[in-house]
Amino acid sequence: MVPNWCRWAGTAAMVVAATAACTADDGEKPASAATTTATAGQAPDTGKFVPKYDRAMLSELAKDGKSVAQDNHVIEDLAEALGAMYRLPKDVPVVGMECGGFNAYWDPEKQSIVLCYEMFGEAEKYARAQSEGRPDYFNLYFDGVTRMITFHESGHMAIDLYSLPTTGREEDSADQLAALLELTTPGPTGVGSVAAAADFWFDISDDPGTFDAHSFADEHSLSQVRAYNLLCWDYGALPDVLGVLVTMPGEPDQKGRLPLERAISCVDEYKKMRGSWETLLKPYIKVNLGVSDATGATTTGAAPATTTTR
Ligand SMILES: [Zn+2]
Repeated sequence: MVPNWCRWAGTAAMVVAATAACTADDGEKPASAATTTATAGQAPDTGKFVPKYDRAMLSELAKDGKSVAQDNHVIEDLAEALGAMYRLPKDVPVVGMECGGFNAYWDPEKQSIVLCYEMFGEAEKYARAQSEGRPDYFNLYFDGVTRMITFHESGHMAIDLYSLPTTGREEDSADQLAALLELTTPGPTGVGSVAAAADFWFDISDDPGTFDAHSFADEHSLSQVRAYNLLCWDYGALPDVLGVLVTMPGEPDQKGRLPLERAISCVDEYKKMRGSWETLLKPYIKVNLGVSDATGATTTGAAPATTTTR
């Protein structure tokens, strides 16, 4: 039984509690970020992700975000996590910089992943608010959000660097891959991180009363839509364990946010997107995407969990 304190704001905490009840983190060691020799059907792996910190000079949010990231070696950890996942033909910088607002992006000209210090600052701000009274939620939230955003940008990188075909909006595809990459993390941390990122999208979502043409025309799905997608894929990966995510009609003490009408298609949705991304990325990836079975374990290599102490 999941305690009531984590009903709405703590979706990720619910997920961790539900998952921890049936599986323990197996403490699997992170795959090596070192380059590996290509075998038949595999792309060359001669590059690595290179962490970098640019200056933060203007806003307090950016300065705070830089301090949080640099003091805790967050970009180094993210670069290591990416290095354990992708086969790279060349070095790819992962650059922290001041951008003038909350953002992160793949820079196709410089062929680098940019993580704006304001993003770290916002993630820390919301993590502090969400972890009030339950401090152990801070790291799950902060790490979940920053990993998922970084993995999303790696999706743009993969599409560009490997010239992958896409149908539909690239932003949605990148969210799919981010979730699948995070779900390679064994045990409660992986599913909890995806749920934490869903919490974040709910936290920063605009009031529907303010929506206008720009909201609907944006290349990104609405934040609420992104949040529900993540919950759907989390549930679809482990439906036997994560029923706690689903809203059950007629139950006044409902705990989950994911409407049942969507939930019933999530297992199929998850399987299809996992299969599609596995096909697309097969020559370029070192891990099996997603959760391989109902215990939350993965069959082979898994992305290392980043743990920060703040
Ligand atoms: Zn994007």
